Amino acid sequence: MTTASPRPGLRDVEPYEAPQLRVRARLNTNECPYPLPNGFADDVAKAVRELELNRYPDRDAEALRERLAELHGHSFQGTWAANGSNEILLQLLQAYTGPGRQVLVFEPTYAVHSRLAWIANGDRVALRLDEPWLMSSRDVDAALKREPDVVLLCSPNNPTGNAQPIELVEELARRSSALVVVDEAYVEFGGESSTPLLDRYPNLVVVRTFSKAFALAGARIGYCLAAPAVVEDLRRVRLPYHLSAITQAAGLVALDHRDDALDILDRIREQRDRISKELPTLGVEAFPSDANFVLFRPPKPAREVFDELLTRGVLVRDFTDLIDSCLRVSAGTPDEVDLFLSSLDEVLR
Ligand code: PMP
Repeated sequence: MTTASPRPGLRDVEPYEAPQLRVRARLNTNECPYPLPNGFADDVAKAVRELELNRYPDRDAEALRERLAELHGHSFQGTWAANGSNEILLQLLQAYTGPGRQVLVFEPTYAVHSRLAWIANGDRVALRLDEPWLMSSRDVDAALKREPDVVLLCSPNNPTGNAQPIELVEELARRSSALVVVDEAYVEFGGESSTPLLDRYPNLVVVRTFSKAFALAGARIGYCLAAPAVVEDLRRVRLPYHLSAITQAAGLVALDHRDDALDILDRIREQRDRISKELPTLGVEAFPSDANFVLFRPPKPAREVFDELLTRGVLVRDFTDLIDSCLRVSAGTPDEVDLFLSSLDEVLR
């Protein structure tokens, strides 16, 4: 009997695993803590009942893309949808990287970007930004010197929370022929969107998700806005019928309920700002955030703080491997944030 060997290096890669624990306050994956109101689920159920599930879905998700294009005042041909922004990013990398092609990331950032670059066989190049992780013109120069084929930028950035200046996104797009991809998974919470630049820069792509501000992480819907030629390239790599009819229907209903989702945004920003304000009163360094989470550095060893919070039913995210002594907490409901702050106060006493 012989065992098959996988792709070289595969066994060195850990599966992506953010804990999914049943705890009182699950504040580790930046989900929206509120479901969309009841009417939403009823409307999804109705839309699903009307589907012909014996048939393949619309391969090109036309109705959903039309609505997204309309929402952004962007062309239909330059709008694309997939299973979460992760799949959009994967498709972009499958289309624009490959052996010998370079994907540049600015660390510290969303670790999945590097993972996807590896999956797509690209060569990853990382430039490290200094705390507080704001890009400068010098970083743009350093990036361009490497002559990347793709630049992945996250704004507001996960896990640091800060947005990057739009002038620098523009500079990157203007001065390079790379595909410049701006992951705006958190932009509804703050920071400036790069979408107004799209008309001028055909090498720019803006990636968005329904998982955060739209309260629909479970539905797996993401999209991008780009030049039509980029979307044509995505159609070359996408799997046939990649986006299920159920997902497409849920996306359309979510757009009908967009105002409900926008109402929730204010409540989340309020809790984020409350966390940012309260943490320093506990002697904790909190980094400014334009997203729905806050990165913080406790005055005690962060891993111990993480464990002690967990014994109190509060799950945060440990980033000590990436950023010296830092944890990240998502903005939850007022009750969840109460529990987080009171538990942290206890742990630090
Ligand atoms: N980009 C960033 C920066 C994220 O933090 C996340 C989720 N944590 C994603 C993309 C992926 O989101 P989804 O696939 O759910 O759209």
